[in-house]
Amino acid sequence: MNAPEHARNLDGAAVQPGDLVGYDMIRRLIAFPTVSRDSNLALIDWVQRYLEGFGATTTLTFDDDRRKANLFATLAANDGNAKDAGIVLSGHTDVVPVDGQPWDSDPFAATLVGDRLHGRGVADMKSFTAIGLAFVPEFVRRGLARPLHFALSYDEEIGCIGVRRLIADVLARGVAPAGCIIGEPTGMQLVVANKGRKTWRCRVRGHEAHSSLTPQGVNAVQIACQLVTWITERGRVLREGHRQDPAYDVPFTTTHVGMINGGTALNIVPRDCAFELEIRHLPMDDPDALFAELRAYADSLVPAMQAVDPATYIQFDALSEMPGFDNAARTPIIDLAHECSGSDLEHKVSYGTEAALFHGASMPAVICGPGHIEQAHQPNEWVRLEQLARCEAFMRRLADHVCAG
Ligand SMILES: [Zn+2]
Repeated sequence: MNAPEHARNLDGAAVQPGDLVGYDMIRRLIAFPTVSRDSNLALIDWVQRYLEGFGATTTLTFDDDRRKANLFATLAANDGNAKDAGIVLSGHTDVVPVDGQPWDSDPFAATLVGDRLHGRGVADMKSFTAIGLAFVPEFVRRGLARPLHFALSYDEEIGCIGVRRLIADVLARGVAPAGCIIGEPTGMQLVVANKGRKTWRCRVRGHEAHSSLTPQGVNAVQIACQLVTWITERGRVLREGHRQDPAYDVPFTTTHVGMINGGTALNIVPRDCAFELEIRHLPMDDPDALFAELRAYADSLVPAMQAVDPATYIQFDALSEMPGFDNAARTPIIDLAHECSGSDLEHKVSYGTEAALFHGASMPAVICGPGHIEQAHQPNEWVRLEQLARCEAFMRRLADHVCAG
């Protein structure tokens, strides 16, 4: 984000930890080492007991071996309404690993360095969740005019796995929120759309031969490279085409090959080559149509391969799918988020979030949270105290909207 950073509070003084309602809560959540591969149950258990202490009703949904859980918690309105027209504050509990990264402090002990708080997850994305939790005493003291929900998920960082079960459970129980605020790091700017992403692995099976006899072989590496070249060329066409949305930093659909592996030795025509590709698409673009063109091109190569050896093939395996989303119309949650953020600006981002899954399940979503995506997943991940103060100002204005008094 390009907005200038002013580490100043409303009085013009630098933000101090003591100015922040959520500072201790952030440090507490960072101290749970919830790397995606590990259990998040200690954090979930702590938050569940904290929220139940304020009268929240809670539901857990687990992964298959019950090592990880999502938490959905509801603070009911004063009139008892716990289901309709509520607001969801959503955050993933998992963080990316720190293995091999040069950290200057313990990643799981949030450390103040000047006006920055360092720690794994301070930007992506425990601070938003922690600040929401820290405001619960105020929400409860003032009483709620509509339900307030917390949605804490597992396994976001490895493909938004966990939240799908949480959303299915919410729908099954007839809970119908008015909208959802996802606190991924946006510099507290309002994000109303993100790109979708589909990924595949392509496996080319050729036919081995001595490299002095190339016509008797089928070179899997070279056929894979033909496909990669096609993917690169289509990426160039998309880049130069007219289907663009300038609200994104990368305003067009992109294609990308991130891994390739093939061959055994230079004097062997390689039998196997595999690569992985992604299509990261504007919500208005159809990744399946593009993939169908790639598939057709691959099919056109197969007859010449099978003329040498009928056992050769080109196979595609779907790996993952994240839909994109775009608030085509102005939804009430966008109006609310504008008022809470105090800004009329809207942005769109190229990375995927859980927002699309909420949005696609009749829970219109926006993304707005403290910190910046540039610091996410990095060693010495940090967030400025000024960003935390902005998030707290957002939460205060949210309280003015959802509270009865
Ligand atoms: Zn995140």
